[in-house]
Amino acid sequence: MSLERIKQLEKISKQLEPTADERELIRRAVIQHTESFLEEMDSKKTYAETPESNPTIIENPISEEAISIDSAVNLIANSVDKDGINPASGKHLGYIPGGGLYSSSLADYWVDITNRYAGVFFANPGAVQVENVLIRWMTELMGYPQQAFGNLTSGGSIANLTAIVTARDAKGLNSSNIRKAVIYLSGHVHHCLHKAFKIAGVAEAQVRQITLDGRFRMKADDLQEQIAADIDNGLQPWMVVASAGTTDVGAIDPLDEIANIAEENGLWYHVDAAYGGCFMLCEEIKPQLKGIERSDSVVIDPHKGFFIPYGLGVVLVRNGEDMKKAFTQSANYMQDALDDDIEISPADVSPELTKHFRGLRLWLPLKIHGLSAFRAALQEKILLARYFYDQLNKVEGFEMGPYPELSVVFFRYIPDSGDANEFNKKLMTEIHKDGRVFLSSTVVDDKFVIRVAVLVFRTHLATIDLTLEILREKVQQLLQSQHTTV
Ligand SMILES: *Cc1c(COP(=O)(O)O)cnc(C)c1O
Repeated sequence: MSLERIKQLEKISKQLEPTADERELIRRAVIQHTESFLEEMDSKKTYAETPESNPTIIENPISEEAISIDSAVNLIANSVDKDGINPASGKHLGYIPGGGLYSSSLADYWVDITNRYAGVFFANPGAVQVENVLIRWMTELMGYPQQAFGNLTSGGSIANLTAIVTARDAKGLNSSNIRKAVIYLSGHVHHCLHKAFKIAGVAEAQVRQITLDGRFRMKADDLQEQIAADIDNGLQPWMVVASAGTTDVGAIDPLDEIANIAEENGLWYHVDAAYGGCFMLCEEIKPQLKGIERSDSVVIDPHKGFFIPYGLGVVLVRNGEDMKKAFTQSANYMQDALDDDIEISPADVSPELTKHFRGLRLWLPLKIHGLSAFRAALQEKILLARYFYDQLNKVEGFEMGPYPELSVVFFRYIPDSGDANEFNKKLMTEIHKDGRVFLSSTVVDDKFVIRVAVLVFRTHLATIDLTLEILREKVQQLLQSQHTTV
């Protein structure tokens, strides 16, 4: 064995540990880019059509040789931070927008350096307490009882999956009874739930789609009737999934009525509030979400309504013990870590073991900005959506969807002649080509409609006025070009 070889390798491997001066160089390059990104954001397009494939990134494969931090930053600045949608922009009004609080980015920076192990209490009691404090705060926000618990996940999809697995085990579903189990949901439920049923191994259960009312909310009487029919047919109603803020139109299912039905029939009651849950902070919106506190599990997405950068969802379960039943495992090499008497460890209520200490990216912003700032921002988004609705409603030719329950508005323009779907598709294309704001579209009752979803913390009144102006302008242009082609 040659010590020479070890020393040689040590010299090379030490490149992985930059000195204080080198750290400053790396940090400066990244900070310089992110600062100009923030400073220039408002003057840049919110949506820039992306080339089919990006040759610059592909032409720079991972290789043995190092490149400079400046070259690396340039590569990403040019190939990533210019193209596609800019979700950090206040002019992002598509899908369900995110945001990206600056304070949260610094929490990520911090926890990536200290790399504290937040998976088990033994490894870092404080980190687990930070996460558990957040979970308890959110259980209280949802109106859940003391024995409720939850988990911080990477996003809403994994949070929903975690709830489905918990519900599966809590209700004793397995291969012998799965085909008799019934799931009730609406056609507007987020597609990640269907994915979750598949991953959780319960896709063979019967699925009933409950009809929607005129405002795209699940009809409670249809739910009641379908459950009764299934019971008559010897099936076993298992779970009902309600949405508190559908992705398509922002509708809130009748949560309290569904709670009654779920209770009477012994169903697991899951509420996907990935979009709408954060609005529990607004006293004015809370009554619309009444009944959420009676659910067995609920999902909220702080990387939407709490404006955290992508990578944070939350699942909460009324009876925390149900989560432990579904996820606690032990192993010999974990024997030092098994004392969970003081605090429940994330690893015992989640598919994850080693994980990002993601709690700090929510804790730090909540602490340094205070809840009042979040509450005001959410209230502002609600009012902006209503303002947008009222203003566009006054413009002749626009057909509006329902008055917004939360912060999603959908609409279409009805031209005097020609196919409305074709016209609105063209309108959508023109808005995308323009790129100043980003809106998205969907199909509601076979109608092509355009949506405005207000949820980025950077969206303010000026953005909504600009959006209204762009809509008027693009409609006029399309109408004119129609005339000239006729
Ligand atoms: C966004 C969303 C999801 C999926 O969450 P991700 O964080 O994108 O994984 C699920 N349900 C609803 C209602 C959503 O808006």
